[in-house]
Amino acid sequence: MQFSTQNSNNTSLKSLVPERRWLRLEHLNDLWAFVGNHEDFQIESIGHSEEGRDLKVILWGKGPKRIFAWTQMHGNEPTATLACADLLQDLVSDPELMALESKIEVALVLMLNPDGAERFQRRNALGIDLNRDAVARCSAEIKAYFNFLEAFKPQWAFNLHDQRNIFSAGASEHCATLSFLAPSADEERSIRLERKVSMQMIAAIHQKLEDSLSGHFGRYSDEFYPRALGDNLMKLGIPNVLFEAGHFPGDRFRRKARELNYRGLKEALHLVATDAWELVDPALYHLIPENKSHLRDLIFRDLQFGNCRLDLALMEQEVPNKESGELEIKFRIDDIGDLSHLHGIQEYKGGILAFEGDFNQDALANGRIQSEREFVFKHGYLQEH
Ligand SMILES: [Zn+2]
Repeated sequence: MQFSTQNSNNTSLKSLVPERRWLRLEHLNDLWAFVGNHEDFQIESIGHSEEGRDLKVILWGKGPKRIFAWTQMHGNEPTATLACADLLQDLVSDPELMALESKIEVALVLMLNPDGAERFQRRNALGIDLNRDAVARCSAEIKAYFNFLEAFKPQWAFNLHDQRNIFSAGASEHCATLSFLAPSADEERSIRLERKVSMQMIAAIHQKLEDSLSGHFGRYSDEFYPRALGDNLMKLGIPNVLFEAGHFPGDRFRRKARELNYRGLKEALHLVATDAWELVDPALYHLIPENKSHLRDLIFRDLQFGNCRLDLALMEQEVPNKESGELEIKFRIDDIGDLSHLHGIQEYKGGILAFEGDFNQDALANGRIQSEREFVFKHGYLQEH
């Protein structure tokens, strides 16, 4: 499989944002400086987070077709913020993109939930899931979001997230490295105009990207979530596309998902500018395999545990260490027993399992697995040998 690890077409450019999973507002300073110093961008404040952090929108382009994208409405989902930083650099250096300036106007809100990002958590400072606040609009962040949305009146919206490692592309063993959704506006999952065109847009983007990481694209279930943002944008008649950046084996920093996000957005700008999405059959959307939650970070097969032979699945958790400002990887037991229905992103075969106390998710906190290699855990952290 061929896949470039570069993040933009312009390899001479250094990323404006540090490559971090725990990406906080302070890490965007170089990006604000770059955008603030370039005459082709405008930055406006759209309000403040619950804890008073500035929420800003970056505007580019003078065209009549308006595209609105936002990242990190879940604070611990940074991949699209990195991808958008790559895109911002290219908007003022890549001639192909610069040529779109008279056709489109792009509005980007990076890190809609900076308080959550500060804590490396999904929710905002009050514990509200911003992606379930589209109807009540009680959070400061979603109030600011809708004030801007109503003034900007986008014809297209891109809702950019990260997904958990458990998602496979269909029933395959492949990680869904990028997933899509054209949300539903009602329980019946009707395909009204705004949903149909969103499906066409996704199918068009998928066609452009599929060859670069074949079999690693997924589609979310179109179940209706009455309080979710995308579902409510559809109700307002705004076509919108969800991107969910996902895992790839050995790619902890999600570089592949970052590149797919970047390229997907770049394609989207072209497709909106040229209306080329209109030529794509919306039925192709349903041919993208629907995600299944069949993957686990680590699976040990056929382990001896007491008198039993069984499988063990572990998941990695990213735990923020406030003192160091860095994430630490802690392991927890996901399941134990016959796990033949699951796939491990990494798998080991045979060996002996030992842990202290009764089974629970922390049972492995102090334990040992002697398999193809030895794993020793202390307080849930893997001890390096
Ligand atoms: Zn999310």
